Amino acid sequence: MLVFNTPAELQAWSLEKRKAGVRVGLVPTMGYLHEGHLSLIAEARKRADEVVVSIFVNPVQFGPNEDYEKYPRDEQRDLERCEAAGASAVFLPTPQNMYAPDASVFVVEEKLGQGLCGARRPGHFRGVCTVVAKLFNLALPQVAVFGQKDFQQAAIIKRMVRDLNFPLEIVVAPIVREPDGLAKSSRNVYLSAEERQNALGLSRSLALAADAVAANGSCPSQDLRAKMAALLESMSLRVDYVELVDAETLLPVPEATAGTVALVAAYCGNTRLIDNRIL
Ligand code: AMP
Repeated sequence: MLVFNTPAELQAWSLEKRKAGVRVGLVPTMGYLHEGHLSLIAEARKRADEVVVSIFVNPVQFGPNEDYEKYPRDEQRDLERCEAAGASAVFLPTPQNMYAPDASVFVVEEKLGQGLCGARRPGHFRGVCTVVAKLFNLALPQVAVFGQKDFQQAAIIKRMVRDLNFPLEIVVAPIVREPDGLAKSSRNVYLSAEERQNALGLSRSLALAADAVAANGSCPSQDLRAKMAALLESMSLRVDYVELVDAETLLPVPEATAGTVALVAAYCGNTRLIDNRIL
């Protein structure tokens, strides 16, 4: 498995692959890899001849009071996992070689990023779109795989690819969960034993919504959101948002029905967790 530390090295490799007609798949990550990430690598391997995994805690997508500094990192273990998962190459750049000190061009999506995490984390998706556009230009993939875990992010990346004509396919892979339902996340490592139990409130609130829609066909969003929030609060979680949105526009729907997406963000102690489910 190859390891590239600079954008130039990765791009030179990708240009060679493209010339040789080799199909490249890209899996962008921030590292501290878990089974969710590994499922994306497996998905990419099915769809491409060679898979590049990028591991980069992108400072531009973190707000000033967020966890950029303490975000968990374990480069050695990540490299071992990528190799075992069959990646051809890992891209491990530094912020210094990704961003010129006077970088002044950024990619901004103006609709899908207005609500949900976009409203709560100003500048977050500007950072995400910018780094992903850069990764597309460096890895030159024919296919890139993202997780449904970050539903809004995946929708915004698909929109960016459509609107800026990036010549690649975006694949969104299902959420990988712990046996008890908690969505796998690098940030789960922050949780104490008690918080780890309370964190089950997220997936349970989504199950509540799915069950209600399955039983009744449709439910007024206002009622359902109140019930979901009550469940989260009953497990000592502080609600950041609970939303029921249209899967394409990400706009709130008055009635939740099959196909509506339920999304939750909540603080478990100091740790902000997100989860979602297509009802
Ligand atoms: P991150 O390292 O958290 O930026 O995530 C990198 C990619 O892995 C994103 O496309 C995420 O949506 C995806 N991902 C994170 N957690 C999971 C999970 N539990 N299941 C599936 N994909 C995930």
